[in-house]
Amino acid sequence: MQKDKKNDIRLMTFEEIQEFFVSHGDKPFRAKQVWDWLWKKSARTFDEMSNISVATRNFLNDHFTLQTIFPSSVQISDDKALKIAFQLNDKKIVEGVLIPAADRMTACVSSQVGCSLSCKFCATGKLGFTRNLEFFEILDQVSLLSKFARERHDLPLTNIVFMGMGEPLLNYDNLLRAVEKITSPEALNMSPSRITVSTVGLAKMIKQLGDDHVKFNLALSLHAANDRKRSEIMPVNEHNSLDKLAEAVRYYYAKTENRVTFEYLILNHFNDTLGDAKELAEFCKNVPCKVNIIGYNFVEGTGFKKASDVNVKAFAGFLENRNIIVSVRKSKGENIAAACGQLATKSTKG
Ligand code: SF4
Repeated sequence: MQKDKKNDIRLMTFEEIQEFFVSHGDKPFRAKQVWDWLWKKSARTFDEMSNISVATRNFLNDHFTLQTIFPSSVQISDDKALKIAFQLNDKKIVEGVLIPAADRMTACVSSQVGCSLSCKFCATGKLGFTRNLEFFEILDQVSLLSKFARERHDLPLTNIVFMGMGEPLLNYDNLLRAVEKITSPEALNMSPSRITVSTVGLAKMIKQLGDDHVKFNLALSLHAANDRKRSEIMPVNEHNSLDKLAEAVRYYYAKTENRVTFEYLILNHFNDTLGDAKELAEFCKNVPCKVNIIGYNFVEGTGFKKASDVNVKAFAGFLENRNIIVSVRKSKGENIAAACGQLATKSTKG
């Protein structure tokens, strides 16, 4: 068989693998062994499948590929966040981050190579869009970050956030397939309540999440509750205005009963006044929600700066006085450009 005609075995269903073995005179249970290696044990090569004969492993090698990704560089920040550049089969690079905290170990994963949405404050947006990740490339980031968590911290992963490179809702099918594997007892078996998908705000796709009754958490990167300001930093707002987003999150909540998180990147002299906080408080009335206020991490050439501590405190206090649940997030990994919006700024391609 021609090498380039081989399919990745992880694109096959269990039944297809079973049929493959039976049609080649092997036992049906072989499929279960291979399936466990692929999904439960996150095997990276056929040769790792140690309870399968060498002849069968060679046979699999002759018929299929197993296109795993691998870490091509690792950087550690002063606050112990780990940024990993993953090399894909076609040599493209995406980045993932492992973020240790007192009460959790979070993996931040990418969903696309680059991004088409050009948010003004974001390093990934400056790269442009190259391609969507396959669901197994997303899953590989999770299993490799989980391996790093065990090796470096002797702890399991507790949370997964889709906040790396790309807009997850523009790679919808692969996102849902990756989540299905992350949560399946046949694979990584994590609770969907530990997964957060962050979107820049695509109204139609937020409604789709509602229709699909997803069980993971949704975070909407709002960053301004005023159309003029939001369009200034996020071109996607031109077609996904705050009215449309408000309708979409109400629809989503009606279908899923999941509280929505609004992410708010607070920028000096742009969206950090009490007037901005008032607009955000109004928007929050649309749906049960909480607000994460995120300090800005420097990205060269954007012209944005971190808001002052005084303004952040006043902003958060204003929301809290209106009974809105607020967290002020200190982003980790800033000195290695692993923090929110910084991925791709210091990528060390290997
Ligand atoms: S913030 Fe997200 S959606 Fe916007 S450009 Fe960056 S990666 Fe794309």
